[in-house]
This record gives sequence, C-alpha cells and structure tokens, in this order.
Amino acid sequence: MGLELIRNPSLAERTTLGLGGVAEVEAVLHEAADLDALSEFLTRETLRPFVIGQGSNLLAHDGHLDMALIRTATPPGPTRVEKSGSKLLVRCGAGQRLPGLLGWAQRAGLSGLENLTGIPGSVGGAVAMNAGSYGTEFGELISRVRLWSPMQGLVWMDADQCTFGYRHFSCPAVPGKSLVWEVELALIEMNPKSVRSGMRAAYAKKRETQPVTARSAGCVFKNPEGASAGMLLDKAGMKGRRLGHMAFSDIHANFLVNLGGGTAAQALELIDTARKAVREKFDTTLEAEVIIL
Ligand SMILES: Cc1cc2nc3c(=O)[nH]c(=O)nc-3n(C[C@H](O)[C@H](O)[C@H](O)COP(=O)(O)OP(=O)(O)OC[C@H]3O[C@@H](n4cnc5c(N)ncnc54)[C@H](O)[C@@H]3O)c2cc1C
Repeated sequence: MGLELIRNPSLAERTTLGLGGVAEVEAVLHEAADLDALSEFLTRETLRPFVIGQGSNLLAHDGHLDMALIRTATPPGPTRVEKSGSKLLVRCGAGQRLPGLLGWAQRAGLSGLENLTGIPGSVGGAVAMNAGSYGTEFGELISRVRLWSPMQGLVWMDADQCTFGYRHFSCPAVPGKSLVWEVELALIEMNPKSVRSGMRAAYAKKRETQPVTARSAGCVFKNPEGASAGMLLDKAGMKGRRLGHMAFSDIHANFLVNLGGGTAAQALELIDTARKAVREKFDTTLEAEVIIL
C-alpha cells in the first residue's frame, strides 16, 4: 500500500486523554518497505516529526500543531521464534497493541507480562516508555529490539546494548530518537490458566486503586526518588481538584481525567497548580511522566 499520508490528523482522536488540536500530517507505515519513503518524507518536510503509538501517555496542546506524526500500523500478530534455554523467544511488531500481546501470551501459555495487565498503548510505546507495573518493566522481558533511524536504517540491538530506566529507553549505538520497529521478548512457557490468573490478579489490583475506565493518560507525574507522586498530590490537596472539565481523579490523585469536553489549557493549568502545591508543601519538584506535545 506504500506510506500512507493523512492530512490534519486530530490529536484528540489519537490520545486516550481525548485532548489536543490538529497536526499537519500523519505518516502511517504498513511494512518495512515504507521506511525508505519515510526517509524521503522526513528529508522533504520541515515539520517536527513525532512517533506516536496509541497516545496513552500524551497530552497534546489545543489548536494547530506544526508537526508530522509517524505511526506504525497494527502488524500481523506476534510469532514464536525459537527456544532459548528455558525461555521462548517471541517476536512482535511495534504497532501491535500491548493488551493484544498480553491476550496472545495468555492463550499461548507464556508468562512474564502478567503485571502489565491494564496498561494500554502499543508495543512500541511500551519499549519507548519502558512501561512498568507492580515490579515488572517491559525492558526486562526484551532480548533484542529492532530500531530504525534515517541514518542507520533498520538495526537489531541486543537488550544489553540498550539502557532501560524508569520510564526511559535509549540505545547509545542508535543516537537520537529512533523508531521502534519490532521487538523480541523472552517469555516462560507455563500453563495458560496460571498466566490468566496472574493477569486477573494484576487487573483486579489496578481496578481497586486507579480510574481504569476514565479518559486519562495514566500517571501525570513520575514518582520522585523514595516517594509516591500520588501520595504527595493527595496530601497537597489535589485529589479531586477540578478545573472546567478536567480533574485530578478522586480515586488516584496522580491521574488527570477528562470528564468530557475538557481542554489541554485546563489540563496544563491544573498540572501547573499541582506542581506548585507539591513544591510549596514538600519542597519537591514533580517531573512530568506524561509527554506534552
Ligand atoms: C489508564 C492508563 C493506565 C496506565 N498505566 C500505566 C502503568 O501502569 N505503567 C506505565 O508505565 N504506564 C501506564 N500508562 C501510560 C501508557 O499506557 C504507557 O506509557 C504506554 O506504554 C504508552 O504507549 P503508547 O503506544 O500509547 O505511546 P504514546 O503515548 O503514543 O507515546 C509515548 C512515547 O512513546 C514513544 N513511542 C510510541 N511508539 C513508538 C515507536 N514505535 N517507536 C519509538 N517511540 C515510540 C512516543 O514518541 C512517546 O515519546 C497508563 C495509561 C493509561 C491511560
């Protein structure tokens, strides 16, 4: 089909927060052959390029955004590659949805991803953010990752050539912001029923403490060293704080929720208020986890 170009893509429609205006263009990659066309497109365009996954960690400004979104379309499902010691290697395209990968792993009886149940987004986004929950980070499960950059093209990088940190991924051999094209995970063969009960337990825990069905982008702020951002926000009086149609959840103070009809301007003002409140009370400056476009 070739590189697909969509004019005036709506950020509100592409983000779980449902906020934001319209970008200039979106380039959608359907297969590896489209990467050459992407390279030409990036040389031609002067717009700011931004790789977007499922938009579950993004807060986009209102109005016109002078940028080109780049997205990998949903590829065919994950595949088993080979045994590696006691583990099974599984390959998965970056455009695959993380919940889809988890569902496949459950049915295939492959363990490792259970604690990530309830995290939306794409596999590429899970790599780029090193998504994590209940002590498991996506990066721990990766054996290698295939990256693309205009300079280097497609290259496989072993996990030990990459740096995975708290909501951080980088690869010194592919400097700058690269596109995650696909990933190879090392998972453990197990009874599908045990995998399912692990996933159910993780999701039940999430549902008790987080507004899982609300329009949000997950946690707005990173946890500062040795503290919980949610707890600091709660003690600073931000839980349930509302501005227009945006509010900090009254279930979990670190989740900013679009109640319907909220704007990015309201969201950004609330974020600013929260940061000031925590700084004044605890002398701690919270760092955003959500990426602001
Ligand atoms: C209800 C809810 C619960 C959440 N719970 C958690 C949680 O428990 N733990 C957690 O870590 N996160 C959580 N999140 C945040 C979010 O789901 C994760 O960060 C997710 O991994 C982002 O994936 P995405 O595809 O939506 O990425 P996007 O939001 O689209 O993008 C996020 C970043 O990833 C980059 N990116 C995306 N795809 C690629 C790619 N193919 N190549 C290179 N870079 C790419 C983008 O450029 C951007 O920098 C939650 C969000 C919601 C809405």
